[in-house]
Amino acid sequence: MLAVDRASVMAVLEGLEFGKSDFVLLDEVNIEQFMENLKLRFEKARIYTFIGEGVVSVNPYKQMDIYGKEDINAYRGRELYENPPHLYAVADAAYKAMKRRAKDTCIVVSGESGAGKTEASKYIMQYIAAITNPSQRAEVESVKNVLLKSNCVLEAFGNAKTNRNDNSSRFGKYMDINFNFNGDPTGGHINNYLLEKLLRGGSDDMLKSLHLHNDPANYVYTRDGAVATTSYNDRYSHNAVLSALNVIGFSEEEIHSIYRILGTILILGNLQFETDRESVLVVGMEDVSHIAELISTEPNNVTKSLLYRTVATGAGEVIEKGHSEKEACFGRDAFTKALYERLFGWIVSRINAVIEVKDYNPVLHGKNTVIGVLDIYGFEIFDNNSFEQFCINYCNEKLQQLFIQLILCQEQDEYKREGITWQHIDYFNNQIIVDLVEQPHKGIISVLDEACLSVGKVTDTVCLESMDAKLGQHPHYTSRKLAPSDKTMEFHRDFRIRHYAGDVTYSVEGFLDKNKDPLFQDFKRLMFNSSNPVMKEMWPDGQLSITEVTKRPLTAATLFKNSIVALVEKLSCKEPYYVRCIKPNDMKSPALFDDARCQHQVAYLGLLENVRVRRAGFAYRQAYTRFLQRYKMTCEYTWPNHLMGTDREAVEAIVTQHGFQDDVAYGHTKLFVRTPKSLFTLEQERAAL
Ligand code: ATP
Ligand code: MG
Repeated sequence: MLAVDRASVMAVLEGLEFGKSDFVLLDEVNIEQFMENLKLRFEKARIYTFIGEGVVSVNPYKQMDIYGKEDINAYRGRELYENPPHLYAVADAAYKAMKRRAKDTCIVVSGESGAGKTEASKYIMQYIAAITNPSQRAEVESVKNVLLKSNCVLEAFGNAKTNRNDNSSRFGKYMDINFNFNGDPTGGHINNYLLEKLLRGGSDDMLKSLHLHNDPANYVYTRDGAVATTSYNDRYSHNAVLSALNVIGFSEEEIHSIYRILGTILILGNLQFETDRESVLVVGMEDVSHIAELISTEPNNVTKSLLYRTVATGAGEVIEKGHSEKEACFGRDAFTKALYERLFGWIVSRINAVIEVKDYNPVLHGKNTVIGVLDIYGFEIFDNNSFEQFCINYCNEKLQQLFIQLILCQEQDEYKREGITWQHIDYFNNQIIVDLVEQPHKGIISVLDEACLSVGKVTDTVCLESMDAKLGQHPHYTSRKLAPSDKTMEFHRDFRIRHYAGDVTYSVEGFLDKNKDPLFQDFKRLMFNSSNPVMKEMWPDGQLSITEVTKRPLTAATLFKNSIVALVEKLSCKEPYYVRCIKPNDMKSPALFDDARCQHQVAYLGLLENVRVRRAGFAYRQAYTRFLQRYKMTCEYTWPNHLMGTDREAVEAIVTQHGFQDDVAYGHTKLFVRTPKSLFTLEQERAAL
């Protein structure tokens, strides 16, 4: 039975003292009222606010006493509006929708770096873990344990300290959790997106917990502010990570191999080259021997991969070409990054192998349903934006497009289908920007790829010129040529995209290199020929001989695009719930609400439009039959005997008897309820019987 305290329900709904608990309840939807409410709530330590079934969260930058066992219990199995806004309310709604209606759902957590996405995803996971498997079945507990522990491992390897966030995720993560018909987790699957291998101003601190060498401070890791680096995050103690790896089921040998690769990366970061009369040499052969030992090969092989590249001549001849010192450095850096990327990818795939749902028979076990949790970088606008921001912002355009399709279009379409009068609301459809980036043959990615694949020397500037030629007329694209600021007499070139969230100027410098797969085949072969089976497994493409690798590998932008298209496809067949995270200030301060910073985020998260759609629409809808099923006992015309004609007439009788006929609309097959208040009344009636 529902134990709803009506006074508290109303306090939640009206919540004057703490502001409106749902932005849908604002007197008027405009940016002033929105910001006022958001600020008031933040100042009153109310960090969560609903927009319909989604929640807006403002990072409190302090421990909040709202995540305890009692809090979990308060939200468990309740209707969304019975409790104050919370991540738990959203998690519960997504879980309930999945369980009651056997619907796949997903929770999309977005926001800029440091806004609290990863923390929010963890609370969501913890909530789901806490409310499932009440009978404590051992096999379910072990699945839950591995799912939770995988977070720790991924964060240890995939997060790093940046100037915006001490524990910044440098990869996007999408995790599917599978459930059986009981609603208990049976497994899952993780997808990771674009592990960033370049850290802006990476710190040495994060290497301190490496325990790889007596004095890790000896390793040169940062150079020119942006350097290939690995982060073995210092927030996670060595022991916690080791124990997590053990729980997940990594073998001793695998764990050793992980450490050996990290060691290799550290030494590579230190490695220097010198030119001695025309020939390039490695400075310090003991480092080479050390690397050879770590990756289980001969020192000679390491030297060769570092200094030479095997190329096939036009005549099919294979020759070895010595690197220049510059090429050797370039090769070393690409190798270091690739080692880390492969390691991370391999760890994810090992975790996936463990959590994969095995032996699930839908006939025996009922329908397998899914909740997906997406924790992905929000829009990025820096002083200097490069290829990484381009990819990240493209990803956000895609997610916005998905949001538009799922929420806006879907709502409008449904009202049309149900014959309900709908006031069309204007919103900006960003499909045009998505096309600008991804359209075949003329989108930015396609022009980039063309430039990367063409023979001969194509520079970033030449590439920009061909972008100008193809896209110069596009309303969301402009490019600039800035007079040289230094003596190089080279023009600085950049291009600007008018994103849905604002204008971003991208410097083209380095775009082509970052888009190419810059790793020489020789390194892949070196790793594939390692006698360590784990390393060999990470580099299957190393077995190709040089004459076989004529086919160009896909570029970084295309690989990224493909993975985002696949992600959007996965999300689009699920019922979405949104958590929008806002970073209140850049000082990590719990007391400061920076109005301008927050307003900017509200704008590019599209929150006002979100509220408008929710308000124009109906908070709740249900097919007449189901509605009747649930509430027939609250009305004398429908209980104990159904005295009305059709289901719709019966529902009308219920609605009228409870006096909220002005709050609903009748569709062809469904009842639409505008505000959640009306539903409360019904739920209470029902509970009181
Ligand atoms: P990035 O995109 O860089 O990964 P993010 O959005 O994932 O950023 P988080 O790592 O989740 O950001 O949060 C940054 C920091 O803010 C946390 O380390 C924590 O100190 C603080 N924080 C976030 N959410 C909360 C919360 N609900 N309660 C207390 N502190 C929080
Ligand atoms: Mg994060």
